Amino acid sequence: MNKSDCLFCKIVNREIPAELVYEDERIVAIKDINPAAPVHILLIPREHIVSLDQASNENVELLGYIQTTAAKLARELGIADKGYRLVNNCGEWGGQSVLHLHYHLLGGRQLAWPPG
Ligand code: C5P
Repeated sequence: MNKSDCLFCKIVNREIPAELVYEDERIVAIKDINPAAPVHILLIPREHIVSLDQASNENVELLGYIQTTAAKLARELGIADKGYRLVNNCGEWGGQSVLHLHYHLLGGRQLAWPPG
């Protein structure tokens, strides 16, 4: 799949609607259309990176930025006190369905471990 066919590139570029929670010059955060928890946010870099497996050392700052922004959003959304989970699904067996790197921020209920 190339960038022009990428669902999350289209969301980032506002070609497909999504419920935006946060955006800046590097990332966009939206509400997941099929929430798995009371709070379920997707943090999506504007840059098209297929998966964590495709990320390189050039992306280290971006990856760290996604994590600290997720923590900031978790505080703002009121899920930080009880705790939350930040998840990246990578590749087929990791459960990745959209081939544009993204992290799930999940919270608002007790989360089970291990995942299915
Ligand atoms: O990790 P994975 O690739 O499976 O996550 C993709 C996520 O994108 C899913 O949780 C799905 O509900 C979400 N999604 C969305 N809006 C879309 C298409 C998918 O929030 N238009």
